[in-house]
Amino acid sequence: MLFNEIIGQRALKEQLIQSVKDHRISHAQLFLGNTGYGSLALAIAYGQYICCENKTEEDSCGICPSCIKYQKYIHPDLHFAFPINASKEFKNSTERLVTWREALLENPYLSFSDWVALLEAENKQPVISVEESAEILRKLTLTAFESEYKIMIIWLAEKMNAAAANKLLKILEEPPDKTLFLLVCESEEQLLRTIVSRTQLIKVKKIEDQDLCQALVSRTELSDEEAKGISELCEGNYREALKLIGENESAEYNLTTFQTWMRACLRFDILKINVLNAGFAELGRERQKNYLSYCLHMVRESLMINYADNAIVRVTEKEGEFLKKFSPFINASNCIAFSDELNRAYGHIERNANPKILFLDLSLHFNELLNIREPAIVK
Ligand SMILES: [Zn+2]
Repeated sequence: MLFNEIIGQRALKEQLIQSVKDHRISHAQLFLGNTGYGSLALAIAYGQYICCENKTEEDSCGICPSCIKYQKYIHPDLHFAFPINASKEFKNSTERLVTWREALLENPYLSFSDWVALLEAENKQPVISVEESAEILRKLTLTAFESEYKIMIIWLAEKMNAAAANKLLKILEEPPDKTLFLLVCESEEQLLRTIVSRTQLIKVKKIEDQDLCQALVSRTELSDEEAKGISELCEGNYREALKLIGENESAEYNLTTFQTWMRACLRFDILKINVLNAGFAELGRERQKNYLSYCLHMVRESLMINYADNAIVRVTEKEGEFLKKFSPFINASNCIAFSDELNRAYGHIERNANPKILFLDLSLHFNELLNIREPAIVK
């Protein structure tokens, strides 16, 4: 990770670079700030800069053997510890390194919930356990292989339980020669005072709106105006910005696909149904479920438009426009069957049904249901 790949944070980058130039590298530093602000990315870039063989005044070179390994997160003197769910298969961070490296290559601004999802551990909170501390100590007794410094980055140090933290106190105070601890922490209150007092604090503030806006324009498809809107909404957090962009895209996808699908079902346009079907099969299970929930929402809102007060209808302007035309097709004779079909499909997706068969089956049912007409009740 080069410093110039990190969004904004100019003053902090200069401060870190200056500490290397002045040979004032503190052996235990605490990068305090959300990962979405760049706290983890900065710790990694700092490590890379320290170890770079041809560093310049502003950045690592990016091409020396050390930089190349750092950029793939495979440098033998760069170590990571992070929260995991210990299991028979994965006892510590080292055994989770493959997933961790992929996550970092994908997005070094990842959030804790991104990580939980990657670990497929939704029902169990990952932690840094006392066994992990033992692994950290073991790694640091190894001599440095290729660099002057061994660097240990502990991501979300607040996820250390008390036993794990206590086990590290001594080494944090008197680390082996040429060993650096870079702790990344989002919530100082949750970290033991004894850990905080043994580290030098580096506060990572939120990314300035203007820097975030520029990054969104250069890294995504957003226009200047869209990027400005998103960066004002996401509190200087790049991960949040990406999330908002994803949500906008998926809202747009949901409505467009629902419109096309309902029209195709009404006329039983099998060519169009097949095209939609192929796209739907590629979505992945969670998005398929999300889409079916959306369809259910549109059916419910159509009923509201037909039979209840418009004031309680919860749709966007674009959805409202479409529902003006679509809602007359949802009536007392078919609404229950519509909901049942969608709920049933949702359950089948959860149980790994073949999406192509499921979607075709739904299309057939919807063709029948949409053609059951009933005059809308006059309000
Ligand atoms: Zn280099």
